[in-house]
Amino acid sequence: MSKTYYVWPLGCQTNKSDGERVATVLEKLGYERVEDEHDANVIAVIACAIRQSAVDRIYGKFRAWEQRQQAGDLTTLLTGCVLPHDKQKLTPKFDLVFDIEELPKLPLLLAQTNVEETVNLRDQMAYFDIQPIHNSKFRAWVPIAKGCDKFCTYCAVPYTRGRERSRPSADIIQEVKELIAKGYKDIHLLGQNVNSYGMDKRRADGTSEELTFAQLLETVATLPGDFWVRFHAPHPRDFTADVIEVIAKYPKLCKQINLPAQSGSSTILRRMNRPYTREQYLKLTDDIKAGIPNVSLSTDIIVGFCGETEEEFADSKSLMEYVGYDMAFIAQYSVRPGTVAARRFEDNVSHEVKKERFRELTDVLEQTFMVNQQPRLGTVDTILVEKYAKDHWLGRNQHQVTVEFPAPADANLVGTFQQVKLEEVEPFRFKGNLK
Ligand code: SF4
Repeated sequence: MSKTYYVWPLGCQTNKSDGERVATVLEKLGYERVEDEHDANVIAVIACAIRQSAVDRIYGKFRAWEQRQQAGDLTTLLTGCVLPHDKQKLTPKFDLVFDIEELPKLPLLLAQTNVEETVNLRDQMAYFDIQPIHNSKFRAWVPIAKGCDKFCTYCAVPYTRGRERSRPSADIIQEVKELIAKGYKDIHLLGQNVNSYGMDKRRADGTSEELTFAQLLETVATLPGDFWVRFHAPHPRDFTADVIEVIAKYPKLCKQINLPAQSGSSTILRRMNRPYTREQYLKLTDDIKAGIPNVSLSTDIIVGFCGETEEEFADSKSLMEYVGYDMAFIAQYSVRPGTVAARRFEDNVSHEVKKERFRELTDVLEQTFMVNQQPRLGTVDTILVEKYAKDHWLGRNQHQVTVEFPAPADANLVGTFQQVKLEEVEPFRFKGNLK
């Protein structure tokens, strides 16, 4: 039988990055990647515990998989973010469930489940040492830390991914150097909480065995080559002035920051166990705007969190109006079993109200985006080209805004930087022409 695999990452970039490392281990075992899950005899799901809808999508697959599993034609693997509550229900449906930290042991686990006959234990290595097979030829995610110590009450991550563990700085820098040498142009440093990088390795005297996050950014930004660096996701509480200075100083560090607010109300933030107030968050955005000219801000924000009143929601709306984001990932709160919020608070904002608040914030976002982009019309911007689709080329600028422009279909522009004059703007995209 041929050995083929399909990786299905749900949710965030961390899961996509984990999926690339799962692919590496499977390819080492001789599996070939396929683009259609129906052609695969191993399907690896990288689960997301943030929203129930992601879990429901996995349940939706079982009927189709079951027959093939029973016929011995399919092996299913589950890893990623899985809450204990979901793990209990999902485990009987999968052939193998493992923690992502156990990925180096995957060959052994497959041998134990009789999927693989033999395993070379000498091939095993630490999770971070697995060289991922990147899905893109120009964009790569580089994990710098795993886990989270913040324990926001609505979030499952500290329970599914454990406490913060920073990856050695030298290994991160080496991986980035290799990516640059291979021609990668868009490098994303990843962690649940990137700007507390190194804090878990602090010595008694307060110094760290690793670089600070600002030092790490500076080291990467001064490597030779033509590339951009981004990071996800920072926590407002740990956003220090030296990080702002470094971003302002180095052109390779994108002038775009996703700064999760989660709410604009200090009382909601307290209930969420987010350790900052509305005023502190706004002061931070003021400092970022003052310190980094032409910076673009985006955010993550939740509407309808347990007990959110009209007044508290109005605080989120006015925070969005004040900051003027270019993008916002607006989520309607849904309870995740096993989290503190699920135990302590009631999910008592109705579905209709959540939907309406979502709509109101989406309207604010559209307005702030359009106002922010007006002064950029007529300027020439650097675009990293991503693909050709429907008669035009698509790419993104440093601010992560999509830019479309015409050029011959066979121009071979994917993964190159191009200068594009921005001529028209509509919500969340520019149209322009090559300069
Ligand atoms: S900072 Fe909060 S929301 Fe982000 S991963 Fe940690 S617990 Fe979850």
